[in-house]
Formats: sequence, C-alpha cells, structure tokens
Amino acid sequence: MTASRPALTWCMRSALLAGALLLLVASSASADTILLKNGRRIIASNVVEDGDHVRYETPAGQMSIPKSIVLRIDRDNLGYSAAGSAASSAPPVSAPEIDPLRGTEDISHLVVHNDAIDFVYIAQVESAARSGAAAGNDKAAAAHYVAAQFLVSKGDTPSAIDHYRQALGFEPDSVPLLLNLAVLYLRQSQFTTALDPLEHAQRVSPDSADVAKLMGWAYYGANKMDQAVAEWKRSEKLRHDPDVEHALQKAERDKAEEESYREGETAHFALKYNGSSTPDLARGILRVLEDDFRDLESQLDFTPPEPIGVILYTEQAFADITRAPSWAGAINDGRIRIPVQGLTSVTPELARVLKHELTHSFIGQKSHGRAPTWLQEGTAQYMEGRRSSESAGPLLNAASQGRVPTLASLEGSWMSLSGNSAAVAYAWSLAAVESIVQNGGVSDVSRLLGAIATAPDTESALRDSLHSDYADLQQQTITLLRHEDLR
Ligand SMILES: [Zn+2]
Repeated sequence: MTASRPALTWCMRSALLAGALLLLVASSASADTILLKNGRRIIASNVVEDGDHVRYETPAGQMSIPKSIVLRIDRDNLGYSAAGSAASSAPPVSAPEIDPLRGTEDISHLVVHNDAIDFVYIAQVESAARSGAAAGNDKAAAAHYVAAQFLVSKGDTPSAIDHYRQALGFEPDSVPLLLNLAVLYLRQSQFTTALDPLEHAQRVSPDSADVAKLMGWAYYGANKMDQAVAEWKRSEKLRHDPDVEHALQKAERDKAEEESYREGETAHFALKYNGSSTPDLARGILRVLEDDFRDLESQLDFTPPEPIGVILYTEQAFADITRAPSWAGAINDGRIRIPVQGLTSVTPELARVLKHELTHSFIGQKSHGRAPTWLQEGTAQYMEGRRSSESAGPLLNAASQGRVPTLASLEGSWMSLSGNSAAVAYAWSLAAVESIVQNGGVSDVSRLLGAIATAPDTESALRDSLHSDYADLQQQTITLLRHEDLR
C-alpha cells in the first residue's frame, strides 16, 4: 500500500514566475533558494554568507538577512528528477483494502478468459439464480463482481459500476460490493451518489472503520466539513489509520477556520469567505466562476457532477491553513483556495487566478485525478490566457544547455521544486500544451484527458488519443518555441 497524498495543485504567483524566468535569462549563474526557519522561501541569485548575514540578489536589488533566521540554502543546479509521488492528484484518503467477495476464486476463470468477459456464462449463472438454484444468488453476485473488477483494471469505470449494481441485485447487503461501488463513485467525484451505498453499508456493518473512512471522503468532497470530521473521528475510534488521521487534521483546520465564514451558493459553486471579504466581492467572484464554468464545460467537454467548493482567505489564514510554499499564489486540493486580501472587486489578475484554479478542478475530475502535473499546469495556464511568447527565448536557451526537464519528470508533485525550477516547469508545461492545441485544437487536450482517465500511464494515453509520445511532444514543443521566438 502506498501512502496517499491529498489532491493538490500549487499554483505559482505570476509575479514570481516572471521574476524567476528573468533570473534565468539575466544571469548564467544559477538561482538559489533560501529556506527560512518560518517556512518561507526566497528565490535569489549570488547568495553569499557574510559573517552573521546572508546576502543575495533579487530582481528588486541586493538584500541582506540575518543568518539566524535561515534554515538552509538550496543551491539550484537545475537538475530535475522525477518527483516522489506517483500521481499529481489523489483523493483526501486512500481507498481501504476491501475483502474480495466470497466464492469468486472458483469462477473467476469462467467469467473472464482470453482477456474478455464471458457474457454467456454470466447469463447462465443469472438464470440459475432466478430459478432458485442452491447458492445461485452468491454465484451470480460473484460473477458480476469478477466482471466489474476486470473492467476496473481496464479503466472502464461506468461499465464496472453497472456490474457492481447488478451484483447488488443478487446480494443487496454485501459490504464488499457496496464499498467497491462507493469507491468508484468517489473516484468520479460523485460524492452524493456515493453516500447511497455507503449509508446502506453502515446499516449492515455499523462498526466498520472502512465505511466511516469512505463516508468522510464523500462528505469532504461534498463540502460538508462537519459530517466529514464526524465520520473520520468515528473511523479513528474504530481503528487507527494514519491516512485518516492526516485527513482529519486537515478537515478540522478547515472547519475551525470556516466556522465564522459567510456562504454563497450558485448552481455549480459553494463559496465560503470570512468577514474581511465583502459580499460584493463574493458575488463578483461567483459570477466570474459561473461564466468560466460554462466556457470550460464546452472547451473540455466535461461537466463536474457536484458543486465545487471555493474558499476565500486573508493572506495569513491562507498561509496557516494551506501551509503553502511562498511561491504558491493559490491552491486547488479539490476545493479552490484563494487569498484575496484587500480586494474589493474582481481584478483582471484575480479573474486569471479563478479561471486557472477552476481549470484544475475540471482536469482533476475529468482525468479521475490522474492527469500529470505538467498537463494540469500547462492547461490551467493556457485557459487563463497565458501564452509562451515571452518565455520562448529563455526556454530555448535553457533547452540548448540541457536545463529543461523532461515532461516525464514533471508528472508527479512539484512541491519539492525551488521557485526557479518551478518557473521553468510552468513555462515548459505551458509550451507543451500550447503545441498540442496548435496541432489539433483544444479538443486534443480534452481527448488526452479522457484517455488519461483510463490508460495505464500518460504515455500510453498520448499514443491512444494523439498518436504521439513524449519524445514527439517535446520536439513539437521546441518547434513551437522557435516559432514564437522569431515573432
Ligand atoms: Zn496551477
């Protein structure tokens, strides 16, 4: 079992992004990251330790800070390695290991053989069950269960759901069936629908920690923090699970912060904001988000099934709650979290952030949380209206020196990247997505996302949907940048 990470996208502030790219062009000396003891990061060049001070240069000029507040200095060699986490997004908790249904081993080779489901066999087992054969219901449920598991392994979630439902027709109180079905709904962000089998499972098995764990996930996804906290507390009481403990701490922080918040709701959004934001700003944000929603719905050919949670913070609350690195301007961890300190209306910059973050929600849900980070960030930047024209020169320059990461190395989390490496990663990812759009339109991005939801990995999805691979895509990206640079 691998530890799960919350679905998380850190989005870089655009000012920092431009600054870091400037550094990339301006100096051949590499940029460093000064990590302070309070968790803040400073991206700088020419960092020197001088007595009890650390001096450094930023685009704003030379600076000096006491060494006593510095935790360490990361010298940036612009070396990239694949980040540790397997996927850029994952649910708030992992799915528990669910016991297999009884009797499946005996018939699994009869239900699935030659890499296909034997529907004739399933029909025979079903008719035996209907005519009252001994253990007929168990066998029919097991047959559909095997078919569902096979379809999950093939990435065909809708058909798998269908088979679990048919299995439940024969064994309505089977907890493994109910939990497997719920997990598939949860993975598709259908949180309210998932509550149905979960409530049934809780009636059958009231002391199951797994059921409570999954109910917490469903409530968390549906933005019902009180109930999420209650279920995860119950789950912890029944059986300790570090995964649940972590999710519970996070949900409790959210709940405490949001207790005094006001709420606003539209067809597709559930908004929360504290007293320092005005209702006018909240209304303005909801209006912009609704417009963005319609636009993304048609561009990405997808409609998120449930309202999306949006939370507006003061700067300090944002830093406390999200524990984000200082280069992060907003975060999407399933809910869109945005610092709006001092704003009274939707500025053009805020509008870009909203579109960017909402794009993450669409991508996360359409790809079932499996989109690689480069595709997430590249598409989000593209949708907010950013283009590669300014970064083409510095990126080509970096590429010619072998200082541009491979897209494969940018699939996982970028959390460990320094600000400067992150800036390169953002610019390179945008260029890659732009090149996909230029070749086949936004519909190619949409098809790729659909393929990623079911393909075993990103490169197979690229092959299936675009008849391309990473090498092609990177070459195509360089071609786009050369073209942009000549303009
Ligand atoms: Zn982002």
